[in-house]
Amino acid sequence: MSRRHVSVHRTAITDALAELSGRETVPLARARGRVLVADVAALAPMPAFDNSAMDGFAVRAAEVVIDSPLPVATRIFAGDTGPGPLLPGTVAAIMTGAPLPAGADAVVPVEQSDERADTVSFSAAPDVGAFIRRAAADVAAGTLVVPGGTVLAPRHLAALAATGTAAVDVFRRPRVAVISTGSELVSPGAPLAFGQVYESNSVILAALCTAHGAQVTYADRAGDDGDFEQKLAAAVATADVVLTSGGVSMGEREPVRDLLSDTGWFGPVAMQPGGPQGLTRWRDTPVISLPGNPVSVMVSFEVLVRSALRSVSGLPEVQPTSATLVADVTSIAGKTQYLRGCLQADGTVEVVGGAGSHLVATAANSNVLIEIDSAAEYLPAGQEVPTWPLTQ
Ligand code: AMP
Ligand code: MG
Repeated sequence: MSRRHVSVHRTAITDALAELSGRETVPLARARGRVLVADVAALAPMPAFDNSAMDGFAVRAAEVVIDSPLPVATRIFAGDTGPGPLLPGTVAAIMTGAPLPAGADAVVPVEQSDERADTVSFSAAPDVGAFIRRAAADVAAGTLVVPGGTVLAPRHLAALAATGTAAVDVFRRPRVAVISTGSELVSPGAPLAFGQVYESNSVILAALCTAHGAQVTYADRAGDDGDFEQKLAAAVATADVVLTSGGVSMGEREPVRDLLSDTGWFGPVAMQPGGPQGLTRWRDTPVISLPGNPVSVMVSFEVLVRSALRSVSGLPEVQPTSATLVADVTSIAGKTQYLRGCLQADGTVEVVGGAGSHLVATAANSNVLIEIDSAAEYLPAGQEVPTWPLTQ
């Protein structure tokens, strides 16, 4: 069977998932972490009106003479909607955020004042414009507040709310189901009998999917002898795409391959680790089948699935960084090799652990995948290689 090139299988997954792309409108309270579809402009200017930056007195600057009392004609509070104009020769007590009365051109803070009975005198003379927040000084109505494509952080939500936006159009989060297969698997926390293996693929796949814009609506385990179809039926009832692990190689009990082989593609991808892969469609739902070894699962997701999920979620592509190998590397010609690596701040990268795709605990010490071209068999120390950041 001929091997599929990594980029061919990655494109096939991207194409299969393209139909999941969608948009929805969500209130700001539920928008953190979501990806904004399009630019959002201010509906209202910020500030919407000239107002006081301090608790103090609205004055005509030219009328203030130090220690000469002026009458306090009125008091203006935040939320007052119709303060009258400031009468010549008077001042208005004004609170922070309250609208500046017409005619006033400065605010004297309360700390520089001495209010008695109906008059106030000042210990300092203000400049014109002092302690006034001018309308639209932050942003004018119709001006861009948050650009499309932004992953909304709390500060963006504040800017949107402050300029009058209540809800935003964001990319839909695709619903993903995860099924791990293997009769040997046991949940961590339970006792481990001889021959059994703690199950780690569902937790890493769920976390990876969530990190790249998806929501995990189903996660379960199937044995190798009978219940995979039933679990898959439950999965497609809740999800837009299913990720499976294990059961796709050439052994005698390969439940994923056995059930799905007539519904799409199974075969080796020319990569190491992560060779055996599948991409099928069951009950009108795309099913991406990854191998079972835990390191193969991590690498397969990062190399083959991540970009497809990010694309439907509206997230930008992850970019590689070039790094310098600190030691010689040998590789297998004909397969793109993805070594776990530790990228340092000085731009050098060191291979972490061996090639074994069961070395899941060792892989936890890596922060990148080092991509070794399929044509290469030997790369000397000092060679520049592309590295791909692992999901944080
Ligand atoms: P398979 O691809 O099903 O033949 O599995 C390959 C290897 O990965 C076997 O050693 C399995 O025990 C192991 N494995 C498969 N699935 C998981 C899982 N969900 N968690 C941990 N190890 C697994
Ligand atoms: Mg298995």
